[in-house]
Amino acid sequence: MIDDAIRVLAGDCTVITEADDRAEYRGRVTTLVKPDNTVLVHDADGYQPVAWLTRADSVSSDRADGFTLVAKKGTRTLRLAAHDRDGFAHYPTSAAGTPVGECPDCGGALVRSSGVHCVGCGDSYGVPTDATVRDDQCHCDCGLPRMRVERGLAFNVCLDRDCESLDAAVREAFDREWDCPEPNCDGALRVLRRGGLIAGCEHYPDCDTGFAMPAGVVNGECACGLPTFETGTGTRCLDTACERILEGASEADAASDD
Ligand SMILES: [Zn+2]
Ligand SMILES: [Zn+2]
Ligand SMILES: [Zn+2]
Ligand SMILES: [Zn+2]
Repeated sequence: MIDDAIRVLAGDCTVITEADDRAEYRGRVTTLVKPDNTVLVHDADGYQPVAWLTRADSVSSDRADGFTLVAKKGTRTLRLAAHDRDGFAHYPTSAAGTPVGECPDCGGALVRSSGVHCVGCGDSYGVPTDATVRDDQCHCDCGLPRMRVERGLAFNVCLDRDCESLDAAVREAFDREWDCPEPNCDGALRVLRRGGLIAGCEHYPDCDTGFAMPAGVVNGECACGLPTFETGTGTRCLDTACERILEGASEADAASDD
């Protein structure tokens, strides 16, 4: 179910924009109103609109007397009035993204933008930004592609969390694996979801120690006792604020940094 629609109006229009100054245009233009209230007025050439308002606070239209549209954002206003209407239509619209496979439900294209969604039926799946969507399909018969996500280990799980849970896989691998680093706490770190996946002390709320699970693979132990992770930007401690990460570095490692 794709319920987002893009509205298109074509015709001979007057367009008035008011911000610090006022401008008035008239021409046979095509106006697009996106679901996020972005308004674009296009004329005959170039990629750039004659007038536009990105993500307006409000867009109202009135079709009683020809067609008028008023978009407002802060102190800026865009007004449009059609003198002669060539066309007016609504079209379904979705985010565009990189194709990553085929929807097992409807055969439509699965594309990746912020998550993965089907261009055909609108089904969507939350995918961590650092995940890679793979070519191989899920082991069960759901037919979806799998994704590779690094959270201490590299996990390959179904796009559908109800089919195969990333959280459960990470929990199985790392729940209670590390001790809480608080000096006066004897707790273990649990794998929990609070917004993102975190390794958080089991004695919460008495102890509020918690670290976001890094996008990387465990490659050793920090001098502080917590694990270190190999990430896209280098090796780091589970605790981003930890400054003891370099203590264990060998002479050779230190030299190779020069
Ligand atoms: Zn579909
Ligand atoms: Zn599956
Ligand atoms: Zn603790
Ligand atoms: Zn550390």
